[in-house]
Parts: sequence; C-alpha cells; structure tokens
Amino acid sequence: MIEFRSVTKTYPDGTVAVADFDLVIPPHRTTVLVGSSGSGKTTLLRMINRMVEPTSGTIEIDGEPVSGRDPVRLRRSIGYVLQNGGLLPHHRVVDNVATVLRLEGTAKAVARERALEVLDVVGLDRALAERYPSQLSGGQQQRVGVARALAADPNILLMDEPFGAVDPIVRAELQTETLRLQQELNKTVVFVTHDIDEAFLLGDQVVILSQGATVAQMGSPSEIIEHPADDFVASFIGVDRGARALRAKNTDQGTVLVDANGRTQGVLVDGAAGEAR
Ligand code: ADP
Ligand code: MG
Repeated sequence: MIEFRSVTKTYPDGTVAVADFDLVIPPHRTTVLVGSSGSGKTTLLRMINRMVEPTSGTIEIDGEPVSGRDPVRLRRSIGYVLQNGGLLPHHRVVDNVATVLRLEGTAKAVARERALEVLDVVGLDRALAERYPSQLSGGQQQRVGVARALAADPNILLMDEPFGAVDPIVRAELQTETLRLQQELNKTVVFVTHDIDEAFLLGDQVVILSQGATVAQMGSPSEIIEHPADDFVASFIGVDRGARALRAKNTDQGTVLVDANGRTQGVLVDGAAGEAR
C-alpha cells in the first residue's frame, strides 16, 4: 500500500504542483491518475520514488515513510516506465533490461538470463536482445522499457504516460498487454495518463485530478461513469460525448444502443427498452 498524507509540492519558482494531497493506493491493483497537462501527475509519481521531494506531508510505502529510505535503493526497488522508454541508446536491449540488476550487483550472466526471461514476459522475441533501441519500433521500445522496469521484480510499478508516443493501434496493443501482465504479475501499479479512455480501461481505481493535483473524483470506472461528482468530471469523462452517451433505439429485431454520433454500438440483451442494467 502507498499512502499520501497532506502532501504539498511547491517548486522553487513558486509553482504549487501538488496542494495538500491525500490518497491511499491499494496493493496489487492498478490505480490510474488522470488529469490534463500540468495537473501534477508526474510530480505525484516522482514523489513516490523520491525523484522529487515533497515540500510538506508524508508518503508511506507499507507504513514506512519513504523519507527515511535511501533514495537510490528506493528508486531501484520500484519499477519506473517513462513515455519515451528512457532507454540508454548506446546499450543493447538486453543490457538496458539488465541495468538495475547489474547496479544491484547481480553477476553478468545471471542478469543476462533474467533479462531474456523478462523479454519473454513482455512478449518480445529474444532475437531482439542484441539490438540497439533505435533498431526497434516505438511499440517494441516501450515493451523494453516495461521489461527493464520489471527486471528486478519490484512490487511497485510506476508508469508515466508510457504509451503517449506510439500510434493508436500499437497503443491499444500495449494497453491489452498491460492488462494481461497485471493479471499475471499482480503488481501495485500507479499509472499516469491524460487519456480518460485509457484510465477507465486499465484502472481498478481511477483518480481524476484538476490543477494542483486536486482530486475531482476517485472511484472505480463504473462508479465514476454512473455518478460523476460534478460538471467538471462529467465534462472530463465525456458523458455527453461519443461512446459514453448511449441511448436505446428500438428496431424490428429488438433494442440496440446508439452512441452520440448515431452509430450503433451493440444490442441490448435480455430485456425490453427501459430495462437496461
Ligand atoms: P503533469 O504531469 O500532470 O503534466 P507536472 O507534475 O509535470 O504535471 O507539473 C505540475 C505543475 O508543476 C505544472 O504547472 C508544471 O509546470 C510545474 N512543474 C513541474 N516540474 C517543475 C519544475 N521542476 N520546476 C517548476 N515547475 C515545475
Ligand atoms: Mg507529466
């Protein structure tokens, strides 16, 4: 469990990125922090592994304040995936994946074998191990970034807009892969995105943030879609738009559900119109 208690971060220039933030992040679940650019998501994530220090308040992992942990050891014990993979360009894929293991003193051959295993886990062909990052597609590079974060088998995985730079088809593939990985590995995942659809797809718990990391609403995707807390949330999640604004339409064959653009999205099973559940 990760817990933020009254956490504030004011940068030296006076910007209040995070104001009095409280949140409990349950273990073995995916918590998605979603908000527009500048709402403080990256700052929140980086305070968990002490890449950024809070101005006030505490962050605890399993009841222990991170402020008492050695920052370097702490960082190595937590997986971190960045938007552009953050791979070292002059190191081969296998060495990128093995980085943390090597830093922790794992023997080269052992680290290498483990790195190859993790490539399997993220669905990458071992044949890619000897390539350099620039010789991979964007989607493959992101998978290497995930493999590197997982190599030391951390309990916590932080992901900062990891699929922001890839095209929509690859993005959908990586999202599906993330869901599969989470089922298999059962990590505590904190995932940051500005994309509400991605948040609802991946999150067990979704936290909608406005500027200063103010929590506009948190809950499961169903809770938020069924009961948006206010107009800001309703507008942010687009209850009045696209596939989230379904209405029933009666046809000769039964009732179908039509989205805001007039496209049929599916059929209403097992019930007359008005009995949707
Ligand atoms: P997000 O990830 O949601 O886009 P960030 O946490 O990166 O938000 O930034 C939150 C706010 O803090 C923004 O206004 C941003 O400009 C500001 N900020 C981020 N990093 C710094 C920094 N190193 N110095 C000053 N201001 C910063
Ligand atoms: Mg950010």
